[in-house]
Amino acid sequence: MRARRGVKRIVKSGAALLSNLVPPPPSGPQKIIILMYHRINSFRHNELSVKTDTFRKQLEWLRENRFRNMRISELEALEGTANLGDRRVIFSFDDGYEDTFLNALPLLREYGYSGIFYIPPGFIGTDRMAPRDWLETKSHEKNRRLSWEQVEALLEAGMEIGSHSLNHWKLTDLPAERARGEIFQSRKRLEEKLGVKITSFCYPGGYYDQSHVAMVRRAGYLSACTASPGRLDLDRLLTLPRLAVQSSDSFYIFRKKLEGRMEFFKIIR
Ligand SMILES: [Zn+2]
Repeated sequence: MRARRGVKRIVKSGAALLSNLVPPPPSGPQKIIILMYHRINSFRHNELSVKTDTFRKQLEWLRENRFRNMRISELEALEGTANLGDRRVIFSFDDGYEDTFLNALPLLREYGYSGIFYIPPGFIGTDRMAPRDWLETKSHEKNRRLSWEQVEALLEAGMEIGSHSLNHWKLTDLPAERARGEIFQSRKRLEEKLGVKITSFCYPGGYYDQSHVAMVRRAGYLSACTASPGRLDLDRLLTLPRLAVQSSDSFYIFRKKLEGRMEFFKIIR
């Protein structure tokens, strides 16, 4: 596991250096970058976990480099011709792990940023574990999900909540009726539990096809995040690109990603 990540980091670093040869991206709506995080902690080292002190460094760099924060709801309300001025960054956290509440939230507040937390309600307040977590750690303790009280506390702290389906199943593996249930019911469940409107969806694992986009639209969501990088298009709010921030990203790679220079190495992410 660790060796593989090391190799990935070397390949990415090479790509980051090469990326200096291409021109920087033009200005426009792509000034908005949605960052995809999963877990922030100090004990776990898989690809989805970013260390707490690394996350702090990233926030520090974003602030120093005048990246302004944006909320998903602001993006949903944007007009195509909006003049954004400074670059904007949207923080997103998938899967509803407790460590986002314990470690990411205090830092976001310290730096005055907000973020959207994509929650699969079927996991909230339960001991349910993703198969991958069980295989990697055999530990409930290290893989706790948020409680409903913590989700409420996120809202009270000015964070946004989105749906990450009910059970985090790959939508493309499900019969249409089941996929529809995942998309519609998760929104209903979150709205009933939290008493707020849920307008944003996130495709589990980034898997979807056009039939799912249509379901997301019919369910009343105004935006939906994928797990693929790319240029943000205000006419395609239901397939929003995101930049993954991973544990194999050195700080140099993180910077290059934010500068829009890693975009053509989509395969590496
Ligand atoms: Zn997920």
